[in-house]
Amino acid sequence: MLREELIFVGTCDIAGLVRGKGFPAAELPARRKTGIGWTHSNLMQTCFGPILDTPFGTGGDLMIVPDPSAEVHVDFRDDTPAEHFFLGDIREPDGTPWVCCVREFLRRSIVALKAASGLQLLAAFEHEFVYTGVEDLPGHAYSLGAFRRQGVFGEMLMAAIRAASAKPDSFLAEYGPRQYEMTVSPVLALIAADQGVIAREMARGAAFRLGHRAVFSPMPVADGAGAGVHIHFSLQDEAGAPVTFDADAPYNLSPAATHFAAGLLHHMPAICAITAPSPVSYLRLTPNRWAPTEADIKMQDRSAALRVCPVFATYDEQARAAQFNLEFRVCDAAASPYMALGAMIFAGADGIARKLELPKTAPPLPHSLGEALDVMDASDRVKEWFGPIFFEAYLRHKRSEVAYVADLDPQALCARYADVY
Ligand code: GLU
Ligand code: MG
Repeated sequence: MLREELIFVGTCDIAGLVRGKGFPAAELPARRKTGIGWTHSNLMQTCFGPILDTPFGTGGDLMIVPDPSAEVHVDFRDDTPAEHFFLGDIREPDGTPWVCCVREFLRRSIVALKAASGLQLLAAFEHEFVYTGVEDLPGHAYSLGAFRRQGVFGEMLMAAIRAASAKPDSFLAEYGPRQYEMTVSPVLALIAADQGVIAREMARGAAFRLGHRAVFSPMPVADGAGAGVHIHFSLQDEAGAPVTFDADAPYNLSPAATHFAAGLLHHMPAICAITAPSPVSYLRLTPNRWAPTEADIKMQDRSAALRVCPVFATYDEQARAAQFNLEFRVCDAAASPYMALGAMIFAGADGIARKLELPKTAPPLPHSLGEALDVMDASDRVKEWFGPIFFEAYLRHKRSEVAYVADLDPQALCARYADVY
C-alpha cells in the first residue's frame, strides 16, 4: 500500500479534546517554525463539534506551533500508523502567544506561583475511565479477574505511556463497572499537563487498536460510578527540594503549602467551572461517590476536595518529605489538563501572595455547570488570570454548551457525553 507518514500537531482545548491538524512528516523542519494554521473560533468548538456561539466570528489567523518537548512517537507495532503527534502552543502569526492559548494559561500560572513564592509545582494525573473491551461482571472492583480480563490493553497502555516519555506508576481495575485507573509519576507542572493529555490519548489509542474505546466521561452512565481525574501535587524550591511537608503542623502542611491549599479552597467554587467543566461533571460531584461535594480539606479522606495523602513509615524523613503530596479531586476529563492545572496553580499562588489561612468552614461546591459559571463570572481574580478576551470566550463557550443539552434527562445527558469523551 502506498503511504506517506503524517504527523499531527494540536492542543487539548477548552472542550478537553485534542484538536489540530496533520502534515507530511517530511515537512517537519518547516512546520516546527510555522506550525499549522488555526483560527480564533476553533476555540469555540464545543465538545459535540458545532460552534454554538463565538465572539470571534470567522476572521483571523493563528498557528499551532509544535513544542519539541511534547512530541509523541509511539509505534504500536501493528499495521496501524504510529501515534506521531506534537502538543503545541497557539500563537499569533507574529509568533507571540495567543491570549486564549491553554498552554500559555498554564505557563502564566507557573510564573505567578514563582513570583508569589519562588516555588514550583510537581504534579501527576491519575485517570479513571471505562475500557469497553471487557464484560461487566460482578466482583469486578480491584479484582485480579478484571485485571486479567482486559487482556493486553493494560500492557499496551503502560508501554505506550513509557514510549511517550512518561513514567507509568500503576494500572488497576477500579470500583465502577468496566472501570480502570492509570497513574503516572510526578513531574513539573507543564510536563505533567502534557503527560495528562498524552496518557488519555495513549489509552484511547491502545483501546482503538483493539477495536474498543477508553471512555473518560465524568459520569459514563447516570447513577453509575463517577470517573475522576485526581491531580496529585506538591511544592518544591528552585533547587528541587520538597517544601510541602511539616510533621508538626496541622495537616502536615508547611506554611507555603498551607497558604497554597487555602487559596485553592478559597477559589474552588469558581474554578469548578474549569476543572469540572461539563454538565455531567455535576452528576459526579454528589454524595456517596468518593467524590467531593464541598470545598474542604481532609487528612486521607477520599470524599474531600483536597485530600492530604499519607506518607509511609518505611521511608526515611527526607524521602517522606519528597513523597508527601496533596490530591485535588474536583477534576474530571472534560477539563483540559492545562486549564485545570493552571486554575489550581493560579488559585494556590493567590493564596500564597495573600497569605490566606485554611478556612474554618467548607462551602458546598456548585451543583451545576451553570451555577459554577456564575460563580466564576463574579470573580474578578479569575477574570484576571484569564484576561478579558479569554474570560468572555470561555464563559460563552461553556454557557452555549449548557443551553445545548439543557433539555436532556440525566440518562440521555450521560449517553451524549460518553460518546464524546
Ligand atoms: N471514582 C471516584 C471519583 O469519581 C474516586 C474513587 C477513588 O477514590 O479512587 O472521583
Ligand atoms: Mg481511583
